[in-house]
Amino acid sequence: MRLFKPLLLLLAVLAPLSSQANTCDSGRLQSPINIASTQKQKLPALEFNYLSSPLVLANDGHTLRVRLNKRSQLKLGKQIYSLSQVHFHTPAGDQIADEIFPMGAHFLHKNSNGKLLALVVLFRLGNSNKTFDTLLSNIPKQVGPNQAIKNISINVNDLLPVTKGYYRYMGSLTSTPCTEGVEWVILKEPITISTEQLTTYKKSFSANARAPQPINQRPILESM
Ligand SMILES: [Zn+2]
Repeated sequence: MRLFKPLLLLLAVLAPLSSQANTCDSGRLQSPINIASTQKQKLPALEFNYLSSPLVLANDGHTLRVRLNKRSQLKLGKQIYSLSQVHFHTPAGDQIADEIFPMGAHFLHKNSNGKLLALVVLFRLGNSNKTFDTLLSNIPKQVGPNQAIKNISINVNDLLPVTKGYYRYMGSLTSTPCTEGVEWVILKEPITISTEQLTTYKKSFSANARAPQPINQRPILESM
């Protein structure tokens, strides 16, 4: 038995690594996706209770993260989720009927059982967004941990579209370990930012979206 111990230890170390790689490469419920055919249904309305929060930002080298204090909540059916952060992708990973959006925001939530819900807001080019301007003018120049921005509060409600119709499907984290079992909610109506705002964001962050993943017969529900 003694001879086998190092081997067993090595296997114990390697197994989680290989299962992570496996989920990204061969998982069947991966995100993002290209939303093509949907099942229209009467789905529960999204109930947003996002509150104003002191602005805390992090530049992780790939994206700008807005850290929230978890007091903001989203209710979907009977589930209540707390909002922990918002970050951005260029382009948005999710597509609708092959339309590629130049940018998207991921609002990450968790409920009391640890279940994750990612809400997606798609951005099109058009009028500028004032709240996005506040974020752009405070992007931390250095890559590093959270920075509290003095005397500025933000309400990420201002990054939501007026109508709250949505698509819903079961997916995954979009980066390693690509864990599945994440509830994805994609708002149908995009918001707009200006070309200048997109250009400013891209000066700090390069393209960082994962390509759309196979749908594999997953139902994509669409609210009526
Ligand atoms: Zn993301």
